[in-house]
Amino acid sequence: MENEPVDYLIIGQGLAGTCLAFSLIKRGQKVLVVDFDGGARCSRIAAGTINPISFKTFGLVWKAEILVPFLQSFYKEIGEYLDTEVFIDRSILKVFKSIDQQNLWLKKADLDSSKPFMDSEIGSELRGIKTEFGYGIVHNAGNVNLPLLMDKFKENLRKKNLFIQHKFEMDQTIRTNIVEQLNNQGIRTKMIIFGSV
Ligand SMILES: Cc1cc2nc3c(=O)[nH]c(=O)nc-3n(C[C@H](O)[C@H](O)[C@H](O)COP(=O)(O)OP(=O)(O)OC[C@H]3O[C@@H](n4cnc5c(N)ncnc54)[C@H](O)[C@@H]3O)c2cc1C
Repeated sequence: MENEPVDYLIIGQGLAGTCLAFSLIKRGQKVLVVDFDGGARCSRIAAGTINPISFKTFGLVWKAEILVPFLQSFYKEIGEYLDTEVFIDRSILKVFKSIDQQNLWLKKADLDSSKPFMDSEIGSELRGIKTEFGYGIVHNAGNVNLPLLMDKFKENLRKKNLFIQHKFEMDQTIRTNIVEQLNNQGIRTKMIIFGSV
């Protein structure tokens, strides 16, 4: 008997594949995720930091005012879905290396758009250590525990039979090759998404 087709087959369960699969599941779509141990795995070694400020220019990163609140609630929601906390609220402390940097910080922190993210107070001493040019504090930052997020999400998918451990071979004519591999795995899907492969 043939398997029911899924709506989306996602190849790769790094951060991108994980977030996409969760977003589709939330929208009532049926997904199947395929990954193997030993891929590029940037997501396994990444710090997972969410920082709204560029430390080169002290400007806001692209669409920070929209993206940061979205990311905070997205990762809290996926944490609730997995019954584990994957997002950690943090402030980031930027130690200045010159008086010019300190002045630039003060100028940028004064902008209305920066106020939710940049503290306009300059610190000087840090746990008993004196910083020569002081430091500034970035609010509304944080980090995601990526290995925990991906492991828990994989576990959740496995329980629902929505995960297959397999390496798709991409080096031949992709179309015929993929169809053959899907048939061999007994997978039927309406759409295939390559998650960083
Ligand atoms: C050292 C380092 C630190 C970083 N720190 C940060 C940070 O602090 N903040 C930040 O925002 N970003 C950071 N990044 C960037 C971030 O890690 C990446 O943008 C993100 O993890 C990419 O995720 P991905 O899902 O696209 O790719 P990947 O994590 O590479 O996932 C791809 C997945 O596809 C699978 N795969 C590959 N080929 C196949 C195949 N043929 N068949 C089946 N499965 C396959 C792999 O096994 C893997 O699981 C950092 C990156 C590095 C390298």
